[in-house]
Amino acid sequence: MEPDPTPTPLPSDALTPGPDGHKSGYVALVGAPNVGKSTLLNRWLGTKLSIVSPRPSTTRNRVLGILTEEATEDDPGHQLVLLDTPGVVRPKYKLHQHMMRDVDRSLGDADVTVLMADATERELTHDARQAVERVQMSSAPVLLALNKIDKLGLVDEALPLVEVYTEALGRPADAVVPISAQHGRGTDALLELVLERIPLGPPYYPADQLSEHPERFFISEIIREAVFHQFRDEVPYATQVVVVTYEERPGRKDFVACDIVVERDSQKAILIGKGGRALKRLGQAAREEIEAFLGRGVFLQLFVKTRADWRDRDGHLREYGFGR
Ligand code: GDP
Ligand code: MG
Repeated sequence: MEPDPTPTPLPSDALTPGPDGHKSGYVALVGAPNVGKSTLLNRWLGTKLSIVSPRPSTTRNRVLGILTEEATEDDPGHQLVLLDTPGVVRPKYKLHQHMMRDVDRSLGDADVTVLMADATERELTHDARQAVERVQMSSAPVLLALNKIDKLGLVDEALPLVEVYTEALGRPADAVVPISAQHGRGTDALLELVLERIPLGPPYYPADQLSEHPERFFISEIIREAVFHQFRDEVPYATQVVVVTYEERPGRKDFVACDIVVERDSQKAILIGKGGRALKRLGQAAREEIEAFLGRGVFLQLFVKTRADWRDRDGHLREYGFGR
């Protein structure tokens, strides 16, 4: 059986121009806990959602969701990769850049940053200040979204907060948008403003694969993350994960088989460990995460391969997003 590749972003040299007018880009969503980021995300993704990762925030940037609007006769379509950027500090920032090679965008080069604030607040909390500091690391246009306006009598009541943010940012935001993520007020307008700032480009992720097998993408991300937690030095950076089989079995646990592909036999030996212990530990940790993510039991099988073996054996590198 031909393995079904995880939707790894296409290598840049393989990118064909998208349909005329198609836009694609990265959107960083930044804000203190509880300002309503998840609520906004869910509203935006709505039924167009491929999937939202429900995992609690980790310390790194990660893909929260991918908003894909395929081209129609009236609309050239777009794809927005929504990034969460919790608690970025410099070293992890770098780590992230390596980890998310495929999504190797960080706040520093997101196309648009949405800075979200709680419109009912009058000054910056500690967390809000940190969010502002993160935004300052980016040169991308900043949209200040003042959320929870449904809790205000008049939208104007939030004006002093705009000044507080302008001062903290050291520049005015590109646009200030009062919204209620919960009630869906202003969220379409905010999305329009985001789209205006997204460049023309083809989709990063094949839309069909994402809509058919969104789980695969997130499973490979979870395993990669587990590799980062457990291994040091060059191993995580050399790791690619390919979900080879994903089988739902009614009445039984899902069956998931993945290849963990590294560059050298020495890395393979580290991943497997003495008597296979390291791999077993990795599998356990990843399985728990995957089960929490899918909300059901999973039988996870991991195989470690070196890239050379891989290449010799089947020469399907392009399909797996290698060969860059
Ligand atoms: P996050 O931590 O930034 O992801 O925030 P959440 O999306 O989890 O929202 C935190 C809380 O604020 C939840 O109880 C939401 O229901 C609430 N919330 C989010 N958006 C709004 C809004 O527009 N209006 C009101 N009144 N509550 C909101
Ligand atoms: Mg949240």
